[in-house]
Amino acid sequence: MALRLYNTLSLLTEEFQPADGKTVRMYSCGPTVYNFAHIGNLRTFTFNDTLRRWLQYRGFALHHVMNITDVEDKIIRKSMELGVPMGEYTQKYEKFFLEDMATLRLQQPEQIVRATEHIPEMVELIETLTSKGFTYESDGSVYYRISQFPEYGKLSHSDFSGIQAGARVDNDEYEKESARDFVLWKSRKGEEPAWEAPFGCGRPGWHIECSAMAMKYLGATLDIHTGGVDLAFPHHENEIAQSEGATGKPFARFWIHCEHLNVDMQKMSKSVGNIYTLRELMEMGHTPEALRFLLMSVPYRKKLNFTLESLKGAQTSIERLRNYELRLKTDHLAPGTNEQITELAAKALAKFEESMDDDLNTAEALAAVYEFVRETNSLMDQGAFLEGNRAAALDLLARFDSLFDVLQATRTEDGLDDAAIEALIAERTAAKKAKNFGRSDEIRSQLLEAGVTIEDTKDGVRWKRK
Ligand code: AMP
Ligand code: ZN
Repeated sequence: MALRLYNTLSLLTEEFQPADGKTVRMYSCGPTVYNFAHIGNLRTFTFNDTLRRWLQYRGFALHHVMNITDVEDKIIRKSMELGVPMGEYTQKYEKFFLEDMATLRLQQPEQIVRATEHIPEMVELIETLTSKGFTYESDGSVYYRISQFPEYGKLSHSDFSGIQAGARVDNDEYEKESARDFVLWKSRKGEEPAWEAPFGCGRPGWHIECSAMAMKYLGATLDIHTGGVDLAFPHHENEIAQSEGATGKPFARFWIHCEHLNVDMQKMSKSVGNIYTLRELMEMGHTPEALRFLLMSVPYRKKLNFTLESLKGAQTSIERLRNYELRLKTDHLAPGTNEQITELAAKALAKFEESMDDDLNTAEALAAVYEFVRETNSLMDQGAFLEGNRAAALDLLARFDSLFDVLQATRTEDGLDDAAIEALIAERTAAKKAKNFGRSDEIRSQLLEAGVTIEDTKDGVRWKRK
């Protein structure tokens, strides 16, 4: 079965192939670096990671570009309030964001690009739009005349044909009800950071950066464009108007939007004030793997209602899988192969892959793995799980983990965390029991390297950090 993805543009789940059959050219709207990312933002970036990993699993290469919005209304306001140069202010939060991505094991896009480093490309795009009659100036700012682009509204499936001509908006974000001609270039106000341009000194509006950077690195037509569901209007609608107005070609073949993370049924957002950050959760003792698992376990088009209970539940699920993996690796098994288990493994893998191919249904994919774990755990208890079944079961877990990436415990700054140390010690004990002294020595050295010394006593193994 081929991979199918839901396309906001067509409102259909369509079979996906990159245009050239090999490399997926993908663009994701990145963070606005004016504060720490909250776990709602991180849901959307975790979705990008899931999509990336599944495309790779399916054998495609990736050219994925993500932007960093480092000039925008909120950033300018905040940095001016603090009296800090804008670049210094944004650099700090960009660094925190990249650290959070790494902590959550999110793969880095092939290119991460900053808006402020692409002002000439934006100016050029605005000039192209002007030469084609899509813009007008007012009070030194440049606006996009949406009535010039008859397809305006095709992504958000709204009819804007009746809107009042010439009404304008300078804000970066607004509701569908207030669709207006939007700003491409804002004339300088006060001491705001600004750049020289043929149409006056000023700064770009928010929407132009994504059109300019996506087309610079990926060409006129992308395979996939992603973002959170709140970006479909106006941001992505405006990106389409800008890009297609300039090139006359379709901007993105697939538009994929990740649903929101809610708290108490309300969207998590900085303006509502109901936010958690990854760092806060870790300070409370939660692991990044638990958050990663929780964010991934709900299919990306479903709303996710976040609770601390569900985060604890995610940790328990991970522990269960880790224990199963440890058992698989270390249990002494009778020789032979149980054909029933061979079949169960094949069935579980097929269900796992079919579910992911079905618009990344991570919940069903997980269910397939759980079912296999449950069934084979009890077969192990009965002694019916044989040596010849080990490889297929480990292969299923490895495939699962190439996507979910939660089986390895996070190493803390001073080496391994307690759970990881305990797991290694249990593995060493089992290896010694199985007379696999090569492995048991290897584990002892690994622990030593991480600053953990162990002592075999008659009551079992004791360990301490150096
Ligand atoms: P921002 O840093 O505000 O530009 O947002 C970065 C990304 O997070 C965008 O793709 C947003 O659509 C997405 N986003 C914002 N709030 C949420 C939320 N509560 N749940 C999921 N994604 C969100
Ligand atoms: Zn964007």
